[in-house]
Amino acid sequence: MPLKVLFASSEVFPLIKTGGLADVSGSLPTALKNLGVDIRILMPGYSQALAKLQNLHYITTLDYLSHIGSAEILLGDMPETGVQVYVIKAPQLYERDGGPYADVNGQEWQDNPIRFGVLSKVAAILSSNNSPIKDWQPDIVHCNDWQTGLAPAYMRLTENSKAKSLISLHNMAFQGCYAPHWVTSLGLPNAGYSIEGFEYHGQLSFLKAAVFYADAISTVSPRYAKEIQTSTFGFGLEGILTKRSHEIRGILNGIETNEWNPQCDSHLVETYCANNLAGKAIVKKTLQEKVGLHLDADAPLLGVVSRLTYQKGLDMLLPILQKLVEGGCQLVLLGGGEHGLESAFQNIAQQNPGRVSVNIGYNEPLSHQIMAGADMFIMPSRFEPCGLNQLYGLAYGTPPIVNATGGLADSVIDSNDANFANGTANGFVMVEASSEGLLACIWRAVHMFRHDKNRWDKILHNGMSQNLGWDKSANEYLALYEHMVR
Ligand code: ADP
Repeated sequence: MPLKVLFASSEVFPLIKTGGLADVSGSLPTALKNLGVDIRILMPGYSQALAKLQNLHYITTLDYLSHIGSAEILLGDMPETGVQVYVIKAPQLYERDGGPYADVNGQEWQDNPIRFGVLSKVAAILSSNNSPIKDWQPDIVHCNDWQTGLAPAYMRLTENSKAKSLISLHNMAFQGCYAPHWVTSLGLPNAGYSIEGFEYHGQLSFLKAAVFYADAISTVSPRYAKEIQTSTFGFGLEGILTKRSHEIRGILNGIETNEWNPQCDSHLVETYCANNLAGKAIVKKTLQEKVGLHLDADAPLLGVVSRLTYQKGLDMLLPILQKLVEGGCQLVLLGGGEHGLESAFQNIAQQNPGRVSVNIGYNEPLSHQIMAGADMFIMPSRFEPCGLNQLYGLAYGTPPIVNATGGLADSVIDSNDANFANGTANGFVMVEASSEGLLACIWRAVHMFRHDKNRWDKILHNGMSQNLGWDKSANEYLALYEHMVR
């Protein structure tokens, strides 16, 4: 009998996406399905998801979801891959303008505890004997981040579920902490509101619930699995994570090679591959044109696609950007987030027309065009659980320039002499997380780009010929699932 896995996530590409979690939730289940796992996704019934799912049909109604009343469970198919998806149709919770977590102005939805409490509760119900769906009961509930963090607690404390639970930690910085009155509102037993449970400094913490009650824990890179057991990266949960150290697996994310592949990317005017980079030069020119940069094939074009937050470290780029421009570089940035950072980058762009292009907002096609058209990809994150953009950079022949943390450290190999000699060099790693460290690293890359074409081509080739798909990692998840049910 194949293993049955319910994969619970708050965002799934191409239905809805704010970041890397959606990319993983869109592609990992497909890879696991290809390995013979009987996997179904569970997600909230956002309008965008309801509109894009195929063969959507009614399955059942759950009417015991604490005080929110009832919700319908529908089942549909992912476009293209056919992976089955349960959606929770509760219009009062999920069908509204704005994003999955915040309104159009970026204000968090006030009822997020209920919205994601219900997601967690439904995951737990569907895994238990209380489930009205009798012909498909999961052996494992695979939870992802705080939005599904209460599921392991409900499974253990209220649903008496026999299924095993796994929490994958994609980012410890987001924990879902709320006032204690939510414990009762969400139908959780008061006994769990303690240090040995889901209480965290006087609040209900969704993520701590998962870390405490889940049968197994995984993170999205081996380095991050170690980092989160320290006070710098554990965001207060390092104590409990250290206690469970032997149960934490670090599995590096893969990329969806149908979606992120310069040989068949429909967002590009020209496709290209490691052995023929002519198309990349044309994509660069088209990108320069599109975002208002001078048409200059020789100018080192630095690319950024990112949330603009402290985590991503792009504030380190601000004080050195003028120097880079004066040294002949161009910058194209796509992103959004903290208003201070947005306007700081916009100011520099205004002072450097044709050399710095700042594009605020979310734009899927442009993100692909930058990944392909830029010469280098800048990602100086202060912490990075895995990071997907550096992997996309490798696949697109756009060497990543990164800080040595988390998944960046696990995937980017610095282009120093030793790594050239052993054939692994594929990018550039900062020696220290500072503006000076970033500047030195970018100059190193620019120097090689301008003066050592052999080496430059070699590192492009190394990155582009790596197997960055999901095969290896999906097998590691499968081994973990098998270990959990044994
Ligand atoms: P995180 O999930 O922490 O934001 P990742 O590197 O893991 O960072 O994944 C980010 C994903 O979101 C990538 O697919 C990236 O291309 C995409 N992305 C980020 N910002 C934007 C944006 N402004 N427009 C389009 N895509 C974006």
